[in-house]
Amino acid sequence: MDAVTTTILWDIDGTLLRNAASGAGELYHRAVEAAVGRELHPPLPRAHGKTDGQILFEILEEFDYGPEWHERARASLDALSVERAAAGDRREIAPGVPEALAATSGRGWVNALLTGNSATRSRVKLTGAGIDIDLFDWERSFFGDRSRERREITIAARAALPGERLVIIGDTPRDDVAAVAAGIPFIAVATGAYSVDDLRETGAVLVVPTLAEGLDAALEAIDLLPGAAAA
Ligand SMILES: [Mg+2]
Repeated sequence: MDAVTTTILWDIDGTLLRNAASGAGELYHRAVEAAVGRELHPPLPRAHGKTDGQILFEILEEFDYGPEWHERARASLDALSVERAAAGDRREIAPGVPEALAATSGRGWVNALLTGNSATRSRVKLTGAGIDIDLFDWERSFFGDRSRERREITIAARAALPGERLVIIGDTPRDDVAAVAAGIPFIAVATGAYSVDDLRETGAVLVVPTLAEGLDAALEAIDLLPGAAAA
């Protein structure tokens, strides 16, 4: 048994779940249009690893809407996500994820979320893909729907869980930057928009192609993180 709690902070998009094939950026644009009540042209290009909060701020700013519109845009985004899930919009689980969640909890580690999504969107996406949301400790989970930068989430996580051994598993260089800002180790998995080679340029303690291929290496890397019980 570890002397301290080990909590794994999982990213969702590109990590637990495959990214949507297309149209994911369009959802944010539609949410802002619904919030401000008019059509906006042209949509901004799609961005991976940005928080929902950041993407909404950027769209609002592009079309000269101030931060006072953000809350409404967040509500629209949640509502659209729930609506599309109900209409059958589903993500695929990334390879090896169910086995990885079983293996980590089997070791007594806590699985939790650290994502740029809101809690509502996290629930909708995971449930839609067929992942049991009770596999995650929602009290130890952190969401980025209000954050302008991903590191706000990692810093909040670090502050909220003092003394716990934390590790972030994610799929983008932005996850690494945010992890570094909070002093949390990062394991990269190349099931999102970035390749193994791209992710090797980050400060990740380990890069794996998928959790199906890299689970043993990931478990070993987590075992070796500082803060475990003294031998
Ligand atoms: Mg991601």
